[in-house]
Amino acid sequence: MYQNFKTHLQTELSEIEKAGLFKNERIIVSPQNAVIKVINGNEVLNFCANNYLGLSNHPELINAAKIALDSHGYGMSSVRFICGTQALHKQLEFKIAEFFGTEDAILYAACFDANGGVFEPLLNEEDAIISDALNHASIIDGVRLCKAQRFRYANADMIDLEEQLIKAQNLRFKLIVTDGVFSMDGNVAPLDKIYALAEKYNAMIMVDESHSAGVVGHTGRGVTERFNLHGKIEIITGTLGKAFGGAIGGFTTGKKEIIDILRQRSRPYLFSNSIPPMVAAAGIRMFEMMDETNELQQKLHSNTAYFVEKMKTAGFDIKPTESAICAVMLYDAKISQEMAMRLLAEGIYVVGFYFPVVPKNQARIRVQISAAHELEHLDKCIAAFIKVGKELNLPLTPSKEGGMSK
Ligand SMILES: *Cc1c(COP(=O)(O)O)cnc(C)c1O
Repeated sequence: MYQNFKTHLQTELSEIEKAGLFKNERIIVSPQNAVIKVINGNEVLNFCANNYLGLSNHPELINAAKIALDSHGYGMSSVRFICGTQALHKQLEFKIAEFFGTEDAILYAACFDANGGVFEPLLNEEDAIISDALNHASIIDGVRLCKAQRFRYANADMIDLEEQLIKAQNLRFKLIVTDGVFSMDGNVAPLDKIYALAEKYNAMIMVDESHSAGVVGHTGRGVTERFNLHGKIEIITGTLGKAFGGAIGGFTTGKKEIIDILRQRSRPYLFSNSIPPMVAAAGIRMFEMMDETNELQQKLHSNTAYFVEKMKTAGFDIKPTESAICAVMLYDAKISQEMAMRLLAEGIYVVGFYFPVVPKNQARIRVQISAAHELEHLDKCIAAFIKVGKELNLPLTPSKEGGMSK
């Protein structure tokens, strides 16, 4: 029975490989950090994790998790509504809502599940979902599971969004959906303008803060803070798997009745396990830390500004960023791969992206800055970019300051 299918899959796999799209996993033998050890024993500087605040290996969170492991056990072996809700889960939900200035929050195993389970219980064929073209795969999949009519607007394009809102005018409820930060360019969604259009056309808004929570805004409260819309957005989704400690877990937070309905009808919530107590406990500690100080945000913001400024001085072409994502534009797919390979040999771990992950002839290296990075890490990374850039004869146009020397 399997033979034909096996041949079919082998053909598919070799096609993926031929297209140069085969994903190999690099094996890390140390905790996640600014400096990581890979399996051949080499240490490299990590510039490709979503560990924006450096919390993935933070002693406070490890300690909170250890304590909860002893006091609350290892796993729940249940979904939330049967026997999988501990006080820790409720406390974490409370903390999330408090952080975002929202009315309530609901936990999921991942943000992929939060997005997968948010649309179908709330909207039907009488309604409209108006979605940014560059939204995350989990939003696209979540929208597919919902019967609402679908409208798509070009990335952060407010003229197009308005056109789609006009087209959707006669439908019952309208929900505009956007990522807070787009992961390939590092740009933020223009939430102030989206909000104005939502008011004009009587639509609601959902923002996925996965790449922006903890990062964007003076205190890291995401794009709603950045645009002074704290508490004004109907639905926010996010992950505990990026800036917020990097373990696992996702959430939806927003208006009370929305969260109430999700608890009754959201399938990934009803039919999937509770997050482990130690993850909930570490999450609670993490939000306490966010309340205590903005030190990590400040370090992240100044690290990012430093990196961008030095790289521009050296003549690199960096997309305007308002997050910790810096897209170093190379345009040519092959060069992006060659450059990433050579940078790794220099001890800098970054990833080159090209079509179809980004548009054709828009290949780039995505550098992700972290509060875990020290200036010496950033300097090493910049120096390696300059060295490899010269080796590859990149058309670097150094500014007057002459950052290309050395
Ligand atoms: C990473 C990410 C997700 C998925 O989060 P997980 O918790 O890892 O499932 C969802 N949406 C966006 C925008 C993301 O960047």
